[in-house]
Amino acid sequence: MTVTQLADAKVDLEMDHYIAGKWVKGGVDDAVDILNPFDNQPICSINPATDEQVDEAVETAYATFHDPAWKGLLGREKGTLLYRVAELLRRDLEIFATLESMDTGIPIRETRMEVATSALHMEYFAGWAGKIEGSYQDLGPRFNFTRREPFGVIGQIVPWNTPLKLMARGFAAAVACGNTMVVKPSIVAPLSILRFARIVEEAGFPAGSVNIVTGSGRTVGKAIVEHPKVRKIIFTGGTEGGHEVMRQAVETVTPTVLELGGKGPIIVCEDIDWDEAVDGVLTQAFARKAEVCFAGTRLFIPPKMHDKFLADMEAKAAKIPMGNPLEGTTQLGPLMTAKRLEDIVGEVDKAESQGASIYCGGKKVMEPGLEQGNFMPPTILTNVRPDMEVYQEELFGPVLTVTPYGDIDEAVAMANDSEFGLASYVWTNDVRKGHRLADAMESGNVFINSYGYQSEIPFGGYKMSGIGREHGAEAMHEYTQVKSITVGMERFQSRFDI
Ligand code: NDP
Repeated sequence: MTVTQLADAKVDLEMDHYIAGKWVKGGVDDAVDILNPFDNQPICSINPATDEQVDEAVETAYATFHDPAWKGLLGREKGTLLYRVAELLRRDLEIFATLESMDTGIPIRETRMEVATSALHMEYFAGWAGKIEGSYQDLGPRFNFTRREPFGVIGQIVPWNTPLKLMARGFAAAVACGNTMVVKPSIVAPLSILRFARIVEEAGFPAGSVNIVTGSGRTVGKAIVEHPKVRKIIFTGGTEGGHEVMRQAVETVTPTVLELGGKGPIIVCEDIDWDEAVDGVLTQAFARKAEVCFAGTRLFIPPKMHDKFLADMEAKAAKIPMGNPLEGTTQLGPLMTAKRLEDIVGEVDKAESQGASIYCGGKKVMEPGLEQGNFMPPTILTNVRPDMEVYQEELFGPVLTVTPYGDIDEAVAMANDSEFGLASYVWTNDVRKGHRLADAMESGNVFINSYGYQSEIPFGGYKMSGIGREHGAEAMHEYTQVKSITVGMERFQSRFDI
């Protein structure tokens, strides 16, 4: 890895991959530039892993899983390692936040929170380590008990949006359950996860228990998924990647958790606290430039509230400071890549040509100082029809469609008219209505007057938003498999009369 701007950020990344407790240079000759979305300049470059390096990472994780140095650790001792990681994340919070902001364009005031949340994930699952229990059934002449056992090597594939935090949630749960890891960050934003390896080392994880390999999904990611010694895949990413991973995992029948995209509906009811709901929808739709899987991107609102609600949102959106993600005053950063910005603006233009109206935003920001970056302002579209791509597809950027509804049943029907089912939002002060709506929403997560998840909240999708759950006690089921043991207590009766 060639370091350019990293020195300014007081960050010293060493090599391209962390395998078997050693830093190694990537074997693929074609170095990939890691770009800063603020100015599209390279931060550094990485030589991706070869198939042989991926194989080495999996083999060492496999061998370590069976090694007493790992397998012999009690659950609570694995928990202690996670507590130590949490401490070290907090100690190096500024380093991680700086790296993440440079790499992803997320403002540093947010990446500081993401690092702190990553530490909380470590602590939450550290608390679970050693508390994973099975069941017992008395069956008369015999009894049965179950053990929840680790899978072995977990292949974790992480996207570029908030990579540290998305890695941390699965990593912590997997380790608490006793698995060893091969982690692949996105080649678009791998820096914080590479830096994480130094913390793992310092915390005292046995060499080989945690391996980090970088490279694109279609090469390095595929090699991990298809490796016969990888016993479970945790994939967070887009629906297309999820399809590919499922297909790749077929040959080895490797179970996969898929945490995929969303197209979150927001239903605003008439009985709301107005200012709270305006602020809430603004956050759900535009926080972290809506490069957030659980962003709210389709707003449903009673017609009589439509005009004033949008005017109030637009007025507030216009005040959100955009700028260099490394500055503490910046609240909205650039989109991840120039290509993504171009594609999203293209989708907005297309919707306009099909009859939608751009209420605000919709174009690349060309303000002096921001024009080199991938900035897109909060964008609101009205007169959108359900057959338009902006209404149905996950754009993964700051574009909110607005549709008026007649009665609440119509709002629910429109909200559920999506192939996705990750997060839904309801704004109401009527507790019964809130629960009825939560009941009716076809999604894995419903937030009533609320936004955002945390370690304790099970998270995952319905429909094409995925399979499985991260966070909370549910995660302990994803990272363990059940062994059922039955013991005969009386003399065995043969089935043969011989
Ligand atoms: P991608 O699906 O493009 O990539 C996600 C990760 O998978 C990357 O590391 C990528 O590698 C890798 N990958 C891609 N294709 C394959 C493959 N065939 N085999 C193995 N690995 C593969 O998603 P993005 O990075 O663009 O992330 C954005 C998406 O993630 C959005 O759809 C978002 O909604 C979703 N997401 C879901 C979350 C959830 O919890 N449900 C949370 C956060 C994001 P590389 O990039 O190096 O090529």
